Amino acid sequence: MQEFLNIIRQLFSGKRTIDNRIKYQTISGMIGLVHLIYASAFFALRVNILFIYNMLAVIFYMIVAYLFGRSKKLRALFISAYIEIMFHSIIATTLIGWDFGFMIYTITMLPLAFYISYTTPAETRSAKIPSFISLMTFIAYFVTLIFVRNNPPLLGIDLPESGTTLLYYFNTLMAFSYVWIISVLFTVEVAYMQHNLESENTSLEKLANFDPLTKLLNRRSMNTHLKEALEKAIEQDETFSIIMTDIDNFKHVNDTYGHAAGDEVLVKISDILVNSVREEDIVCRWGGEEMLILIKADNKVAYSAAERIRQDVEDAVTTVDGKKIKVTMTLGISGYKKGDNIRSMVQKADICLYKGKNSGKNQVVMA
Ligand code: GH3
Ligand code: MG
Ligand code: MG
Repeated sequence: MQEFLNIIRQLFSGKRTIDNRIKYQTISGMIGLVHLIYASAFFALRVNILFIYNMLAVIFYMIVAYLFGRSKKLRALFISAYIEIMFHSIIATTLIGWDFGFMIYTITMLPLAFYISYTTPAETRSAKIPSFISLMTFIAYFVTLIFVRNNPPLLGIDLPESGTTLLYYFNTLMAFSYVWIISVLFTVEVAYMQHNLESENTSLEKLANFDPLTKLLNRRSMNTHLKEALEKAIEQDETFSIIMTDIDNFKHVNDTYGHAAGDEVLVKISDILVNSVREEDIVCRWGGEEMLILIKADNKVAYSAAERIRQDVEDAVTTVDGKKIKVTMTLGISGYKKGDNIRSMVQKADICLYKGKNSGKNQVVMA
């Protein structure tokens, strides 16, 4: 029971979908069952022609249920079911009268037509065909209505009042049940599509904003954060700093241990950077083995963060295929000053970095 409720919950939240085969086989099985009930009713009421028709319909839906498991031509199967239901409703109504409520079924064909058109796979999702089916259904309904208003039932047999009423109740219940089932299926499928779209969007967003190797933000999305920080600095006096980092002699790492080992060092260094700054600071892969850090504080705070990073990098060891690789890093800092823009700040940090590289590397230089 718990398991069942769980499945229902997952269906409505879009985390799960109903297997098409089970779904269509259940639907055709249910229609077949309804026909079996009619067959019994008409047998009891001695309306032989409708008894025979309904027995044939039972066989038809048994075949359809079987084909739903095998055939890919879902739409053809549904159209044949549509024609059968319309045919039965009209024939039964003209033969024995309107009062049995057989025409109510035709109205349920409208949502069904839209449902099939929009959810069966590999079909063109067009409103034209279901709208056409709706119009045809309406015309069939109306013509039948006019016909039975002007003509007595064709079979002209006397049926017990209780049989008529019972069938009318039954048909009403079934017609409501069909519309309910189709609506539930539609809702569940829309929820599933929506859920899939949302998770696709999330992964696309990740692809667009993050560097696949280091899992750091990429330069593009960092630019957005930098602009935001600059705006806050100008409008709200919230200062910020940037740290430009570059691994020392990284070409040598690649040349000695191979490019793949170089990649592993990059991943390790990225982890160190992320873990050395506060939650609100942002680390990105600016390009190659250069990372840029946005520190949401003045350059003194940035300096101590940079020094901590430099030390952590110096202490870290990346082991690749049993070989221990050690690297150092040079860092350039620029703190926001009035009149600065992102370009001027990156330039200042770059100049500091360059100075550090020229005076022995493995150091922090501040403008
Ligand atoms: P310096 O101390 O002056 O920075 O020397 P360096 O050797 O690090 O020189 P530079 O910064 O100019 O070289 C960057 C090197 O980083 C060159 C490039 O092959 C390597 N590199 C850039 N991106 C990647 C990457 O994604 N993976 C690996 N393995 N290497 C990379
Ligand atoms: Mg470089
Ligand atoms: Mg370098």
